Amino acid sequence: MDRFDLSGKVALVTGGTRGIGYAIVKKFLESGASVTLCGSRKETVDRALEQLKKEAPDGDVSGIFPSLSDPEEVKAAIAEIKGKYGRLDILVNNAGISQSTSLEDYTPEEFNKIMELNVTSVFNCSQAAAAVMKEQGGGVILNTSSVVSLFGQPSGCGYPMSKYAVNGLTRSLARELASSNIRVNAVAPGVTNTDMVAGLPEKFRAPLLSKIPLGRFGEPEDIANAFAFLASDSASYITGVVLSVDGCYINN
Ligand code: NAD
Repeated sequence: MDRFDLSGKVALVTGGTRGIGYAIVKKFLESGASVTLCGSRKETVDRALEQLKKEAPDGDVSGIFPSLSDPEEVKAAIAEIKGKYGRLDILVNNAGISQSTSLEDYTPEEFNKIMELNVTSVFNCSQAAAAVMKEQGGGVILNTSSVVSLFGQPSGCGYPMSKYAVNGLTRSLARELASSNIRVNAVAPGVTNTDMVAGLPEKFRAPLLSKIPLGRFGEPEDIANAFAFLASDSASYITGVVLSVDGCYINN
């Protein structure tokens, strides 16, 4: 049995159109949740919904594409979910981009772009969702961090910076929101087979693989399983953790 019970729960998953986010949406649907997935464009959201019709045909799922860096658009999107279901039990802040730019090549635009999505959007969604969760007496906020939030990376410093911030927000909100019965946790995936790593040339893949004692990259479903556990009542005494799901990635 690889399913945690999410029956009757209402979830919002950002970056749910592909990769890890899509796997989380599918896992949540299979576990009984009603899910709103969020992407950056209507076309990619529609494509994901079409795919889910085949892969999770019994699931209650719909899609939205607000600008996550705009607090008003985020508030409106969450108000829409509350209007439809009367509540929001689980928020998954998963949308994210990575970068490999060297320090000298960074432009302010490129730096701001990663902070806007990977940090500001996580804050915006958490703020709007927490207001609804407080009102209803509880909820769960989950963030997608990264293995690089533990070790840094050799170039593209904006990416680990953004994920360190996600860990800081996770631990701080866990403390701030505990008395409102809102749990806040993060999952830190290792190298996972998605579009984000698909373009990596072999000369980078082989050395990465050699650092993973389990001998393989993660699959999106490996990561989604951790999210389903943390979202479920089985994790009711877990808050403020950053859970590594990385095959014991060793940074040496
Ligand atoms: P992906 O590129 O396959 O998917 C990214 C998702 O984010 C997509 O659904 C995309 O629509 C969404 N997105 C991108 N820009 C957006 C925007 N401006 N507004 C709304 N949505 C937007 O990536 P992935 O590998 O599935 O990554 C998902 C999360 O996992 C990210 O936060 C990433 O940092 C993290 N992560 C990935 C890996 C990995 O190896 N793949 C490792 C550690 C952490």
